[in-house]
Amino acid sequence: MGVFYKWGAGRNPDHPEIVDAHDSTLVTADGEEIIDAAAGAAVVNLGHSLEGVGDVMAAQADRVGYVSTSHFTSPPVESVGEKLASMTPGSLNEAFLVDSGSEAIEAAIKLARDYHVARGEPTREAVIGRWASYHGSTLGALAASGNTGRRTVYDPLLRDWPKIGPAYPYRWDHEGTPEEQAVAAAGELERLVRRLGPETVAAFVAEPVGGSSIPAARPHPAYYREIRRICSEYGLLFIADEVMVGFGRTGEPFACEGLGVTPDLMALGKGLSAGYAPISATMVADRVVETLEGHDHSFQHGHTYSGNPISTAVADHVLDRYSEDLFAAVRRRGRRLEAVLDPLADSPIVGEIRRAGLQVGVEFVSDRETKAPFDPDADVADRIYDAALENGVYTYPGGGSVDGQAGDHLMLAPPFVLDDDAIGAIGDAVVSAVNRVAEAEGRRTA
Ligand code: PMP
Repeated sequence: MGVFYKWGAGRNPDHPEIVDAHDSTLVTADGEEIIDAAAGAAVVNLGHSLEGVGDVMAAQADRVGYVSTSHFTSPPVESVGEKLASMTPGSLNEAFLVDSGSEAIEAAIKLARDYHVARGEPTREAVIGRWASYHGSTLGALAASGNTGRRTVYDPLLRDWPKIGPAYPYRWDHEGTPEEQAVAAAGELERLVRRLGPETVAAFVAEPVGGSSIPAARPHPAYYREIRRICSEYGLLFIADEVMVGFGRTGEPFACEGLGVTPDLMALGKGLSAGYAPISATMVADRVVETLEGHDHSFQHGHTYSGNPISTAVADHVLDRYSEDLFAAVRRRGRRLEAVLDPLADSPIVGEIRRAGLQVGVEFVSDRETKAPFDPDADVADRIYDAALENGVYTYPGGGSVDGQAGDHLMLAPPFVLDDDAIGAIGDAVVSAVNRVAEAEGRRTA
């Protein structure tokens, strides 16, 4: 009896109760302090207890707490729309506001469909995704996702949309330079589109840098150069899912910018309010907006809380805190975080340590030569998560769930504001947790 929430990370069913939090520290009901090395799930970019948020919420609730965006707008909605248009790259100039990352993906998928219908190509409906990807837990977003662990039970409910392999250099078996491998991997999309017939495909959706399935996996920029070419040539819209990596996580305002690619639709979430209110957005490129505006069918999509004034007022406040200085700090702190994890480079169970800005993925393998993943039943990532938590550090485990496409891993994605002491403590806790589980598995660092 109570709250049905005990889903996800770790094997410990007794979730610690968090009663207080500040900067990168969580405080339990027992008064224990935990370093939040995952910023929730890469959400709390600006740290806990950010100054001013409570005042902004109260002031907005006192003025206008709710109006339906079907018929009204409000000052924070207009302001957030303008700020997002100026922050995001290319001609992504219109924001459609929703409440979660999953909904932002659903909206992008439906907008892609509307776009093709408006252009007189109603046979285009398939959304090509990639294996080892996650775009959300609602049925459309899950159908586009390729994280098998999160989909399997629901497979009968999902559209059978096609997938290509992940952008995952560590496990690619293409020949040649990193650039040649990237071009070969992206070529899979072209072959698939030709096989399906471009007239049946609406969009390609991808996390530009890997998130919860393969954290911090980032291909050579040639990969997205090819993806952009293929999408443009065959008339697909490219949906970039920046729900996890947008707003500076990778050290660039948006990951697409670091990779030199401009999408037609971009899903945003998490960092938009940095965890302080449920809000997300789908950014739409001018040419998509213009096509839809020239058509008499209006976008049939909405949620009761879309553009909620209190959530948007919080986002408006949060967006002003992102700056080039902060993104430079992300890059600096990311390098430090990588440095404190250096002792893991020789661990017999660590296959790869990847980093994109202040997001790190540590991938575990049972054999470094063959890159064989651990047996999922060994729960390696969850055991390392438990050990790190015992050491006072909260991390984000995953894997063992992508049908051999990816191994177990730990993601670190701390708040951007963490200090050197916290970075050092994260390093100590994670290194000792990995070593402990390696020893339990009978492996010792040489
Ligand atoms: N896309 C990505 C890349 C994500 O990481 C997530 C959430 N982890 C989602 C979509 C779904 O967002 P939400 O949980 O807010 O629905």
